[in-house]
Amino acid sequence: MSESPDTKTTFTSPIRAPSSVPVDDAVIPFEVNALDLRGRLTRMGPTLDEILHKHDYPPAVGKLLGEAIVLTTLLGSSLKFEGRFILQTQSDGPVSFLIVDFQAPDRLRAYARYDQRRLHEAKDSGALLGKGHLAMTIDQGPDMSRYQGLVALDGGGLEEAAHEYFLRSEQIPTRVRIAVGEEFRSGEGGKHRWRAGGILMQFLPKAPERARQPDLHPGDAPEGHVPHTVTEDDAWVEGQSLISTVEDVELIDPDLSGERLLYRLFHERGVRVFKPLPLQARCSCSRDAVSAMLKSFAPGDRADMVKDGKVVVTCEFCSSVYEFTPEQAGVENAT
Ligand SMILES: [Zn+2]
Repeated sequence: MSESPDTKTTFTSPIRAPSSVPVDDAVIPFEVNALDLRGRLTRMGPTLDEILHKHDYPPAVGKLLGEAIVLTTLLGSSLKFEGRFILQTQSDGPVSFLIVDFQAPDRLRAYARYDQRRLHEAKDSGALLGKGHLAMTIDQGPDMSRYQGLVALDGGGLEEAAHEYFLRSEQIPTRVRIAVGEEFRSGEGGKHRWRAGGILMQFLPKAPERARQPDLHPGDAPEGHVPHTVTEDDAWVEGQSLISTVEDVELIDPDLSGERLLYRLFHERGVRVFKPLPLQARCSCSRDAVSAMLKSFAPGDRADMVKDGKVVVTCEFCSSVYEFTPEQAGVENAT
């Protein structure tokens, strides 16, 4: 998840002005060599809108799922092979389950489960999730081992969970910013559109001792033990202070290009951008796949699915509806 982007473009001129043309639905890998920083910037417009509008989510749920989608693109876009990155949460808040499925190189799908009656309890994303865990799974096909990373959700949001994950599991100094918003344009009958943006930045110096981070807890050190204090590297301190200046509105601004935003942040140190990786909303469900799934069920379960003389299966990811006759669904003794 931390490797350098392998999509170096070979522009004839390595130094150029940042493009002012906004590119939506793409991830831009970047690096700031002077500070040993590498990162990725995501901007999302129509693709996010398409995924969220397939479901009739209340705004708070749409926003939270949008945040999970942005985080997934920031993490999953580093996959170098054909593979899958799946982000899931399971927790006790009003939004009990989220899943975002990213299939390399560019396919995204997602859905959320929530309890409408409990939504008013939560004031922010952390409270919507509640307590539980966030799991990240990398699946690179049947011949490769699956990787799963787990991090506790403890009332904080997804940014916080990502920081915790990188601190504990990968031990790479990492900062993540995510913003999701709704854009209202007059003249479209009050229709709103979802937009989102995010940035992930990691400190990857050649000398590993420069990447040391302060411990979160002193642990079970004996009494009288003086904890050694770790001073963060100056370059990382500077990187964090730069990324902390990014405003949510800059992350989602449809008129501000991703390149201009990166330039705004890092122009004093020089920032190098790589070829953007496009994203699209595309589900992998199909009638054949649903039919195969039905045939894998026990005969009794299949029979229980017959309602009004047919078997109807709705894809949770994209809301596509597949209808079968009982015979097509493999129900025996169908009448
Ligand atoms: Zn589907």
